[in-house]
Amino acid sequence: MQHVDTLIVHAHALTMRGDGVGYIGDGAVAIQGGRIAAVGATAELSARFSASERIDATGHAMLPGFINAHLHSPVNVIRGVAQDVDHWLEKAYWIFYKYVDDADALARSRFTLLEGIKSGITTFLDHVAPFPGWPQAYAAAGVRGRLAASISALGMDAKLDGLYPLDPRAGRDIDEAVAFAREWNGAAEGRISVLLGPVAPDIVLREHLLEIKRAADREGLMIHMHVAQGDREIAQMLARYGKRTPEYLDELGYLDEQLMAVHLTEATQEEVQLMARRGVRMMLCSSAIGLIDGIVPPALAFKEAGGMVALGSDNSACSMFNEMRLTALFNKIARRDPKVMPPWEVLRMATIESARAIGLGDQIGSLDVGKQADLILIDLRGPSLSPVLDTPVRNIVPNLVYNARGTEVKTVIVAGRTVMRDGEVLTMDERAVLEEAQAAADAIARHVASDPDRDALALVSATRSGKL
Ligand SMILES: [Zn+2]
Repeated sequence: MQHVDTLIVHAHALTMRGDGVGYIGDGAVAIQGGRIAAVGATAELSARFSASERIDATGHAMLPGFINAHLHSPVNVIRGVAQDVDHWLEKAYWIFYKYVDDADALARSRFTLLEGIKSGITTFLDHVAPFPGWPQAYAAAGVRGRLAASISALGMDAKLDGLYPLDPRAGRDIDEAVAFAREWNGAAEGRISVLLGPVAPDIVLREHLLEIKRAADREGLMIHMHVAQGDREIAQMLARYGKRTPEYLDELGYLDEQLMAVHLTEATQEEVQLMARRGVRMMLCSSAIGLIDGIVPPALAFKEAGGMVALGSDNSACSMFNEMRLTALFNKIARRDPKVMPPWEVLRMATIESARAIGLGDQIGSLDVGKQADLILIDLRGPSLSPVLDTPVRNIVPNLVYNARGTEVKTVIVAGRTVMRDGEVLTMDERAVLEEAQAAADAIARHVASDPDRDALALVSATRSGKL
């Protein structure tokens, strides 16, 4: 009998192998050295393996950890202040964002990681200007960080009316991002990897985009960028270059498998097809774009054109349950067709398809022998996920997508190490993280409260009048 570190048994295993959810009833996984050593039926694996730790997952779904394919970890503490209004960026968000600096960034990021871990996210694609302690926060939290070092030519004091003033000195950010990648790619036993993250084509200079592309080719890095993320961006592109974003990026040689395009809110059908055909990957943030723009991004069309789509939370709740449910519902409603975005498809977009889209498909995203042991256990026995049926219809995945709260996630394992057990995060002091996040948000709010521009904010008046 072979000995392994961990054997998880008696689970409803959703392996995400094949083209569905790869279900195994009474399923088991053996973990050795941080990787998956075997996947199969409990009877079979129990006969093959003895284990240092045996986890009985009776009544639980076992699946690969969720992947959040787009977020900005230090800004989640100010969520709830910039939606339900016109021009969310210029007229609501920017005044808060300009007071977000490096001072409390680490505390704010930890808060987002805590929220994510508690709902089963094991890989975070975090798009941020590198700040002190950023990769170390991931190393300490025990999760996987795909870190997109952001590059922007828009100063924090910029006025956002008219053509944005772009600062040519932003070219220095490229050297810093490359240096960051060289230092951190593969750190924390391979849990940390780095990408280049030009923020958006309207706020990065053309010559810098070309330099970023050359650097990405030279260093073997992928590129993660907001693309066609609103009429605001398209207007800037037309005014500056006389072209819409996709045509402009095509000219620059950007439309290929190296590019992860976030949002594509404003992309036309032709532009979607062009990008999907070229192998561009789409990051879909249903909740955030629904809230700030009232738009359902063209993910269905992107998939229909053969493109890969991954789910991200952006500035919304760091929960893939939220994104899966809203992605399914929004698209059904927008198409007036209940058949589109079925639950197995959105679950794949939060696991295996996302892993492939962010360039980690050979490492994570499914329960497969040789892959990293990133997996979660979800308790199906509470009121939100029970009763469980196996036949004639298996209802586990529909209920996970349409009805889970997130709190049903009980165990989170990353690279074979338990990060959360019975709902308790083992790598962080939860109370301290929450207190620090509150203090950091309070500090930003104090600045905004004394900013002379605050009175123009719709949500400030809604608060004053007692509506909010
Ligand atoms: Zn974003």
